[in-house]
Amino acid sequence: MGHRKADFYLSLCAGIAVFAVSVFGFAGLLRRPAIPREALEQATGVTLPRDRDPDLLPRDIVKIDGFEVRDRKTDFKFVAAHHRIGDPIDFVVTKDGRELAATERLVPHHEKGGTPFIFLLTGVFGFLLGFGVFILRPGDRRAGVFYWLCMAFSSAVMISGEWYGVQGRPMRLVPGVLFFFAYTLTPVILLRFVRTFTARDRLPGGPLLWTVALLFGGFFSAVLVIGLLRPSIEIFRLKGHFSYFRIFFAAVCIVALGTLFRAFRSVPSREKRDQIRWVLYGMIIGLGPFMFLYTLPIAAGMRPLLSEETASAFFAVLPLALAFAILKYKLLDINVIINRSVVYSLLTMVTVGVYLASIEGLKALFSASPGTGGKWIPVGSAFIAALVFAPARSRLQVAVDRAFFRRSYDYRRSVSGFTEAAERAHSDRDLLDRLSETLAAILPVERIGAFIPAAGREASGIALRSGLDDDMAALLAAPAGPLATLPPEALERNGFALALPVPLGDAGPAGWILFGPKRSALEYTDEDRELLRALTAETSAALRRIRLQEEVIYERASREKLEEIGRLKTEFISSVSHELRTPMTSLQAISELLKSGKVADPSRRDHLLELMAGECGRLSRYLHNVLDFGRIEQDSKRYEIRAVDLKPVVAGVAEVVRSAAAEEDLDLVVETPEGAVPVEADPDAVSQALLNLVDNAIKYSAGRKRVAVRLVATADGAEIIVSDSGIGIAPEDRERVFEAFYRTPEAARHDPKGVGLGLKIVKHIMDAHGGAIAVAGGPGRGTTFTLKFPGRR
Ligand code: ADP
Repeated sequence: MGHRKADFYLSLCAGIAVFAVSVFGFAGLLRRPAIPREALEQATGVTLPRDRDPDLLPRDIVKIDGFEVRDRKTDFKFVAAHHRIGDPIDFVVTKDGRELAATERLVPHHEKGGTPFIFLLTGVFGFLLGFGVFILRPGDRRAGVFYWLCMAFSSAVMISGEWYGVQGRPMRLVPGVLFFFAYTLTPVILLRFVRTFTARDRLPGGPLLWTVALLFGGFFSAVLVIGLLRPSIEIFRLKGHFSYFRIFFAAVCIVALGTLFRAFRSVPSREKRDQIRWVLYGMIIGLGPFMFLYTLPIAAGMRPLLSEETASAFFAVLPLALAFAILKYKLLDINVIINRSVVYSLLTMVTVGVYLASIEGLKALFSASPGTGGKWIPVGSAFIAALVFAPARSRLQVAVDRAFFRRSYDYRRSVSGFTEAAERAHSDRDLLDRLSETLAAILPVERIGAFIPAAGREASGIALRSGLDDDMAALLAAPAGPLATLPPEALERNGFALALPVPLGDAGPAGWILFGPKRSALEYTDEDRELLRALTAETSAALRRIRLQEEVIYERASREKLEEIGRLKTEFISSVSHELRTPMTSLQAISELLKSGKVADPSRRDHLLELMAGECGRLSRYLHNVLDFGRIEQDSKRYEIRAVDLKPVVAGVAEVVRSAAAEEDLDLVVETPEGAVPVEADPDAVSQALLNLVDNAIKYSAGRKRVAVRLVATADGAEIIVSDSGIGIAPEDRERVFEAFYRTPEAARHDPKGVGLGLKIVKHIMDAHGGAIAVAGGPGRGTTFTLKFPGRR
């Protein structure tokens, strides 16, 4: 962090130094001398042709300041670098083969103001832009590149020449050297900026480009410094190679333009496209004339189509376009809001402009008749300025709003954009966020508040409250009926300037959306209010839609729940009746048979009575399960756990099963150890669990049913293992069979009787004993349940 801070200040200082040297260099620009053509023509009678390059020596001049002219483009620059305006210079001009000598004084290149002034404004503006961006986005890589682009470009523009006004003073070489480096680096930094800006991070051939630019800069600086210090016209003439740099300059700029253009065509977001568009405008209008009408023709060995000065005057467009893109399209993610003070400064400028223009206008009007009270002219002008002040003010405000805050000033588009966004909102909060987003893009405000009462007619409670103090919320929530307006002091206290009601359709209080002052500190215009009203109307429609959706979802959920309960009830009743019907039918049949007295054989009677007892046992076990389930659900099932021996419990269960299954094709094997198997348990519950397991083992087996019950004493307690050779349980069902009412599809197919309560109860019993139940086996391989009891403690 500290490192980055140091970097920041170092770069800032370097920039300030560049700025200072540029100002120093600009002063030299004003001392730029020119060839005294008119004086020479008068002295020699030779007409000297004018060229777009003002420093190009006419062919007729063969000697200057004692040396022979060889490089017409460079030689006068050498002279001008040594002398000041007004210095007498010896010229030799040829006329009809004769040589005429004349000594004339150098004249100023710039008459007054003019292009240097444009260079100064462009340069200073560029510097300010660079500093502003750098300070607003410290640490941002793109902003850093932009900063150096501004520094290089602005200093090249401001110094605008490497040699003017050196006049033998070595200090003057400093801006000259800076100029060369700034100039040669500018295209590479520009390309680098375009690459980072369009998210192409690598600069292709970067090191090579930097090296070439630095070599050019170093070479021309060296030529300048050595040429002037020696002094040597031969060395100075090496500057003629500048054409090579011009080719490089044009090529790099064209690549940068191409990159921007490609990005412009492929970028998906509108905002980004607008940004690129303005950078493109800046480059095409700002650099285009210089590149295509000046540099390229010279590089191609032709005459430039525009003079260097005219072509460079367009430079001013580049920083202006970039600044515009920053202000309006948040270029480099910089969000600057034009505020009231800027508007008033602009307004003052307009007023002063009108004042001055009126003075000039009135002067022109009255100059025809002198003596008509010239001292009234300023008064009249002031009067005119005062007259235009008021309309100018509102116009200016609207113009500023239009230029910088509204992409298109097209309310319809923003409203319909918001409508679309609101349709996707899924909650009140989400909706409000989308509203804030929309406003941020077209009408930035200090804050947005909201008061949305809870849904429903009872209308107590608040669904959303944001940015309001308690008093204000209480005021809004008061069931006094819809308030038409809010007390202004309450609004102001909460920092809002405007409140709009959000009708929610039902009888309850309306919601409110509140808007803080505009971030530009300007007043809300009628158009703004209209926009906010439209957006609020959309918000309230969306809110109602969200509420309706919530209601529908809630209703559907509760309906589904009711349906589910109903379905379970029906299923339960049908399986219970199913389960009861079979034993009832056989009980009825047997009892009728016995009553009829047709069964005389006592052994057969005993058998029938045994069957009856078995059925009754099954019935009562079943009812027991159902009742137990009810108790489990109500959490009222109790166990009487005490020290018991499991051996008689297992034996008892085997007895019951055997007698009940007298007729069935059943192989029941029971294995118990020699000695007692003592555990802590509720013997009735254990019998019930075991009976459930053995019942299942019989029920879910086919053909000859082989069921084994083994009691084993283990190191840490005891286990009862019930295994069968039946249909088995698929692995994915092993967990679920312990859920109430769950039956595997195979089981339901195999035996439609059954409600799915047995295992649930077994599990409950084992949990209550601090034990566990495990299941093993698989489809077609039979099933083994193991009840694990902890030992006595
Ligand atoms: P029910 O037997 O009334 O369906 P349970 O709770 O006793 O209810 O058993 C739940 C489910 O577990 C049964 O429907 C059956 O799918 C499966 N199941 C239980 N015991 C066995 C077993 N021995 N063999 C195969 N599947 C079984």
